Amino acid sequence: MSTLRFFALKESLSRLPIIISENKKRSELFGKHVFKKDAMQQVLSHEAFQAVEDAINTGAKIDRLMADSIAAGMKQWALELGATHYTHWFQPLTGATAEKHDAFFEQTPEGNAIEKFEGAKLVQQEPDASSFPHGGIRNTFEARGYTAWDPTSPAFILDTTLCIPTVFVSYTGEALDNKTPLLRALAAIDHSATEVAKYFNKSVNKVTATLGWEQEYFLIDSALAASRPDIMQTGRALLGHAPAKGQQLDDHYFGSIPARALNFMKDLEQQCMLLGIPVKTRHNEVAPNQFELAPIFEEANLAVDHNSLIMDLMDRIAERHNLKVLFHEKPFAGVNGSGKHNNWSLATDTGVNLLSPGTTPMKNLQFLTFFVNTIKAVQDNEELIRASVASASNDHRLGAHEAPPAIMSVFIGKQLTAVLDELEKVTDGKLSPQEKTDLKLNVVGKIPEILLDNTDRNRTSSFAFTGNKFEFRAVGSTTNCAKPMVVLNTIVAKQLKDFKNEVDKLVDKKKMKKDDAIFNVLREYIKASKKIRFEGDGYSAAWQKEALKRKLSNHSSTPEALNIQLDKRSIAVFEEMAVMNSIELKARHDIELEEYIKRIQIESRVLGNIAKNHIIPTAIRYQNLLIKNVEGLKNIFAKDYENLAQEQLALITQISEYIGTINKDINAMVDARKSANKLDVKERAVNYKNEVLPFFDTIRYASDKLELLVEDKLWPLAKNRELLSLS
Ligand code: ADP
Ligand code: MG
Repeated sequence: MSTLRFFALKESLSRLPIIISENKKRSELFGKHVFKKDAMQQVLSHEAFQAVEDAINTGAKIDRLMADSIAAGMKQWALELGATHYTHWFQPLTGATAEKHDAFFEQTPEGNAIEKFEGAKLVQQEPDASSFPHGGIRNTFEARGYTAWDPTSPAFILDTTLCIPTVFVSYTGEALDNKTPLLRALAAIDHSATEVAKYFNKSVNKVTATLGWEQEYFLIDSALAASRPDIMQTGRALLGHAPAKGQQLDDHYFGSIPARALNFMKDLEQQCMLLGIPVKTRHNEVAPNQFELAPIFEEANLAVDHNSLIMDLMDRIAERHNLKVLFHEKPFAGVNGSGKHNNWSLATDTGVNLLSPGTTPMKNLQFLTFFVNTIKAVQDNEELIRASVASASNDHRLGAHEAPPAIMSVFIGKQLTAVLDELEKVTDGKLSPQEKTDLKLNVVGKIPEILLDNTDRNRTSSFAFTGNKFEFRAVGSTTNCAKPMVVLNTIVAKQLKDFKNEVDKLVDKKKMKKDDAIFNVLREYIKASKKIRFEGDGYSAAWQKEALKRKLSNHSSTPEALNIQLDKRSIAVFEEMAVMNSIELKARHDIELEEYIKRIQIESRVLGNIAKNHIIPTAIRYQNLLIKNVEGLKNIFAKDYENLAQEQLALITQISEYIGTINKDINAMVDARKSANKLDVKERAVNYKNEVLPFFDTIRYASDKLELLVEDKLWPLAKNRELLSLS
């Protein structure tokens, strides 16, 4: 009998929930482990506090003396909360977070010890970073990597370590991480959007991009997970028949949360509170064992950090509950995959959401301006948007007849469609007073009312307007939100910059009134961005056809999707907005291709090993039982045995055939890898997709058939239905 699987099953069935008591109000816990304003005010001098505030608000530099003073305050605060170590916390291009802990502890010449932390250690460090991906940027040995403090994301204490969010750049200033381009993109959108917002309100001085992510994930018992080498090493089930009862009955979505999962969530949420992550919603998702977690939206940089931090926390906390978190976009064939919707909007320092319709026609014109510009930006850069969420794991979701499709399209609902249709008819040139009044009263002015009862919800669109924000749904559950946020904020920044130029030109050259000019430019944008707008079923075959007609891209795989990153026009946009230069873009492109290849290579090796070491031997063992049985029948019944043993004989043959397929395909897959490995990175990625990946399906098919044939008791791997039965 297969011991590991049955041991794991026994373990998992005997688990009791680890009860988490909630004896403190969440508001009392909130932000206690974050070096936020009130904490700073308590330990910093007024000047030091102001220096941090200025750095956050205006990007002002902090001088050495001031840094010492801030570091001293930070240390005092951290020690009081039991911290013993500090680390520069950063997000290298692996997509995960990185940290190297140093103790505050230092020896004095007298042989005693003190806790020490200087400004220099706060502001900059040089981690031994040669093993982080750099895509060639750090190839020369002088090109070292530095981490530098990002004061816009507050320091926090995790366990007993003071974590200081930092950027990670090369000696020559190129970004080696996800945060650096994000901060640059956020600066770009701040600048462009503020300029445009000033048309409507002169007192706007800053625009912040806001992000509210929704994280989907699976939870499975850790003992069962441990019996599955594929899950442990790749985060997904490479094999395993879909459970007979999956999600057909729709009985999991929003159902009551299993006790063990609920206690995990409570534990996680308590940690989130301490760390100032404003988690708000939790619920079951569509698939069994699938859940979702979402915070209140925040400034985008902070929201990105919080998402990275929470993914790390989830791994750690799950362990305490004997659970394993699967972030993979498609951990189980035959049940829904996981995404990470990115809700995005723009907020002014005067407290206005620029994507929220207002109470006056002027505010609504402002809303329309940002709304239409966003749609235009997505239309002109749909391939960049697609590329920003491309990965080997997300390929299983996008373009695999799953939510959402690989085609980028914008859904706005029928009410706003009607508004844009009206605006398309606006007169070319100056508007008559009559037309303007009419527009303001009957079109623009009506927006809030019509949106009030806007019940339009399209779940199949990749980029949907949902009343006061856009929701980018193609983001994968493993994706670092920084990537889509860099692209989205950069392209909208560029679009708003162009818009402002066009409007100003009409005002200066054609002597148009500002409103007239805005209406005129918006009209042209609405006409020019019709192609990206789609209100129908995004999964339908009809849309695939229609999108092809509209010449929208439909890249079902990462190697294809990434091509656009090296397009001249893409590079020009990033360079113009000072977000990334061509070296940084090329480096990222190569890193992402490499990562794609490595993921598939690892999966392919794991699949080969499991099939050879677990599946085939098990099938043979069962086949031997059948053979013994047939021999026995032959002994007893002599020539009549053929009739009596015909099913067994058929099974024996079938098993041999499946074993044959698996063996043959593993060998062919290994050969395909070998020849792919000789190619340059681009060709290699394409080859992994076209020549290696297809064997996953054929091997899986044969193995899953064997799973159904072989006696249950002999099967060595926890079955998918067992993995998906958390109580
Ligand atoms: P739903 O869209 O599911 O009806 P909500 O409107 O509450 O629910 O929002 C869903 C997500 O959108 C939440 O994670 C929330 O934080 C985020 N969100 C709401 N408003 C904004 C905004 N202005 N900017 C960014 N994200 C937002
Ligand atoms: Mg959503």
